[in-house]
Amino acid sequence: MTDAVTDTVAGLSFEVVPTTTPTPAKRRDEVLADPGFGVHFTDHMVVVEWTPDQGWHDAQVRAYGPFQVDPATAVLHYAQEIFEGMKAYRHADGSVWSFRPDANATRFRRSASRMALPELPEVDFVAAAEALVRTDRDWVPTGGESSLYLRPFMFASEVFLGVRPAKHVTFCVIASPAGAYFPGGVKPVSIWLSEDYSRVAPGGTGEAKCGGNYAASLLPQQQAIDNGCDQVAFLDAAEHRWVEELGGMNLYFVHADGHIVTPELGGTILEGITRSSVLELAESLGHKVEERGVDIAEWRDGVASGDISEVFACGTAAVITPVGSLRWDGGEVTGGAEAGEVTTRIRQTLLDLQYGRIEDTHGWMHRIC
Ligand SMILES: *Cc1c(COP(=O)(O)O)cnc(C)c1O
Repeated sequence: MTDAVTDTVAGLSFEVVPTTTPTPAKRRDEVLADPGFGVHFTDHMVVVEWTPDQGWHDAQVRAYGPFQVDPATAVLHYAQEIFEGMKAYRHADGSVWSFRPDANATRFRRSASRMALPELPEVDFVAAAEALVRTDRDWVPTGGESSLYLRPFMFASEVFLGVRPAKHVTFCVIASPAGAYFPGGVKPVSIWLSEDYSRVAPGGTGEAKCGGNYAASLLPQQQAIDNGCDQVAFLDAAEHRWVEELGGMNLYFVHADGHIVTPELGGTILEGITRSSVLELAESLGHKVEERGVDIAEWRDGVASGDISEVFACGTAAVITPVGSLRWDGGEVTGGAEAGEVTTRIRQTLLDLQYGRIEDTHGWMHRIC
């Protein structure tokens, strides 16, 4: 063991170097009144560097701003990059909380391992996110379903065109105030079934939260839009038969008898923290929950016959999104025009938990400040 490893066991300490040009409060309030998603960023960011000799070092909370990127920086060529998405929620008493940050930390470490990136210890991941939220706590919006979206990411910052894992890696956390995903009320989305393209393949990177998976999903997502749909759904790459997930959300099927099914993990589905939470929440709400293979014919025929009464997608950004219709080349099945009863109940329960309106019996909430 090197000294660097011993250091990280004790935990990184973050040097806070405040920005010299903070956003005026008036301007910040304007942004927070209508933040949108992913367009405005807070005053600070976390940056930590890694090299094989020094391990993780130079942990800082400093002014948000551009990186200087050499054209030969490895990530620009070989996409050695991973990310996370999580939120900080303001409760009615003004306190700020995160939801299962340890689960994001664990997934980040697993994603790093798959992409041959150095693993950041869970304690440092959580400490980095919290240090940023504490520094920029005034940027956590109040009210509705708004939150401060946190985007931790790690990339190969070594300037080198050789093909091997980078020997200089940068970890960063940025934060962006986010408004309600459905400002005008929850509305079901339409899904386009991609029959030509796969998101990932067995043995590929489907379990890792990496930019490359998203790059592969953009063309089929564009096809979804071109076909008048909101989102794309992917089937398994081997048989083109088993439902996997959307580009960035997991899927759930509610059957008319009340039991709930989600496609089982098997290396090609990203294990969403919302997905895992819904598994537990639905059970505590009295539903029988199954993880198993879902044949695309089961989705089509089930919605058509009414055996499947509700379909919803889930992920941190949109929480729970009802699916109104499934369209493919040559056909369509349509469910309800409104969010279903079970979908609405699960969605509301999860939001009530995250915003501190019901007791957190699962121990998922973590107070930051
Ligand atoms: C992030 C992500 C999800 C949702 O995960 P959450 O932890 O619930 O936000 C689902 N699918 C893919 C491909 C993702 O990248």
